Amino acid sequence: MTIVADSSRREELLCRRLEALRARVAETEVRAGRPPGSVTIVAVSKTQPPESVRTAFACGQRVFGENYVQEGVAKVEALSDLPLEWHFIGPIQSNKTRAIAEHFAWVHSVDRLKVAERLATQRPAALGPLQVLLQVNVSGEASKSGVAPAEVPALAQAVAALPGLRLRGLMCIPEPTSDEAVLCARFRMLRRCLEELRAQGLELDVLSMGMSGDFTLAIEEGATHVRLGTAIFGERKKP
Ligand SMILES: *Cc1c(COP(=O)(O)O)cnc(C)c1O
Repeated sequence: MTIVADSSRREELLCRRLEALRARVAETEVRAGRPPGSVTIVAVSKTQPPESVRTAFACGQRVFGENYVQEGVAKVEALSDLPLEWHFIGPIQSNKTRAIAEHFAWVHSVDRLKVAERLATQRPAALGPLQVLLQVNVSGEASKSGVAPAEVPALAQAVAALPGLRLRGLMCIPEPTSDEAVLCARFRMLRRCLEELRAQGLELDVLSMGMSGDFTLAIEEGATHVRLGTAIFGERKKP
């Protein structure tokens, strides 16, 4: 009895959070002069059990993001009865590319050609092209992951030419800061990188930027995908 009450209360809380987030995203789209529905919420389910993903699905969420290959693959398999769209958003070791290519629809964190080439070769044809974003280091010295902005055009042209992949756009994770001016500058830099690639003839339509603490700023700067973990599922347990 208590267990049932607890789980339905948890479900209600999660649904209420999701509804509130959808409303904030929609308000921000209007305020920023963006078309309604132009921003997709990627629910970041890392460290959350599969049951939490089922609950979010029951509340209308379809798109989920995972950071760790082993955990992500286990969840994709455990939830294969649901029509979910899985995004891999974490750091990529080249010996883990096959598992990503075989289990995910999107990858946000490609930052070198070797990884893209492996994903291209390993993508099963039956799954259709893997949707790819390049992770850009918009914070310079303050961050180690991501390709340097100056190297984005060459990497983008090379990745766009690979079979099995479809290059869609760019992703960033700014350094942790509560300084909104700094965050806006980082998001704007990513948008400018995308505009530069488009001017070179690449057909790109995705900017993955903004997390629980800064997604409204990111939407104002042009985000099409915001990656929300804590705001949906609550604080993560420390590993
Ligand atoms: C964990 C994570 C998120 C979600 O962070 P929250 O602050 O919990 O919303 C988004 N993107 C990446 C790459 C992450 O690793």
